[in-house]
This record gives sequence, C-alpha cells and structure tokens, in this order.
Amino acid sequence: MASDCLFCKIALGTISANVVYQDDQVLAFRDINPVAPTHILIIPRRHIAGLAEAGTGEQALLGALLLAASQLARDEGLVEGGYRVVTNTGPNAGQSVPHLHFHLLGGRSMHWPPG
Ligand code: 5GP
Ligand code: ZN
Repeated sequence: MASDCLFCKIALGTISANVVYQDDQVLAFRDINPVAPTHILIIPRRHIAGLAEAGTGEQALLGALLLAASQLARDEGLVEGGYRVVTNTGPNAGQSVPHLHFHLLGGRSMHWPPG
C-alpha cells in the first residue's frame, strides 16, 4: 500500500466507501461524485499508480478488473442500454487519483469523443 493513497485506504477499509463487489484482488465501490446514474470504480487492492505502471506481471489482474466491470454491468442492468468502461491515465486524461481504477458508467447516453 502507498501510505498516502486514498484508494489504498478504501481497500483497507480505513476510509469508508459504498462497496458493491470485492474479492481477494479486486474492490468495486460507488463513485462519491457520480457522473452517470451508475458510476462504479473498480480497483486492484494492491497499489498500482495507473495503467502506465502496469506490466506483464499484472496481466491476470487486469483481466480480473475488466471481468468485474462486465459482471457489475450485468448486475446493474446496463447490458441492454450499453455502458462505458474507462481508465484515465496521467494529466491529459484528467487522472486525479493515482491508484489504477476503471470507471463503469451507465444509465444514460454518452457522447464520443469524450471531452
Ligand atoms: P479519476 O479522476 O482519477 O479518473 O477518477 C477518480 C474518481 O474518484 C473521481 O470520479 C472521484 O469522484 C472519485 N473519488 C474521489 N475521492 C473519492 C472518495 O473518497 N470516495 C469515492 N467513493 N470516490 C472518490
Ligand atoms: Zn493506492
């Protein structure tokens, strides 16, 4: 864990969150500032700063994160209407929390390209 990392603290339970899924590797919780009717963050329990810091050793973990997003989309009833899974990486993308996370967004129509 990175001692000053917000999402590491959520993974450890020292900061509370509305958790919707967890297993030994993955945690998913509702975004505190949702930008869609469904807005869930899916994170690895282990600290990885972002996708740029993930390597071949994280291949299975990255798969587990995306499969968790897919299952959560089913659980949230998003499959028919569609949904978006996105990870912001670095300043140009607007990453504000330096702990890898995928946003699961759904429940409204979205524009492309993103702003
Ligand atoms: P990023 O901007 O790095 O792609 O996404 C970070 C996300 O974390 C934002 O959507 C923001 O609303 C969310 N967030 C920031 N602090 C907290 C928090 O304390 N709890 C929860 N549940 N979400 C948070
Ligand atoms: Zn962290």
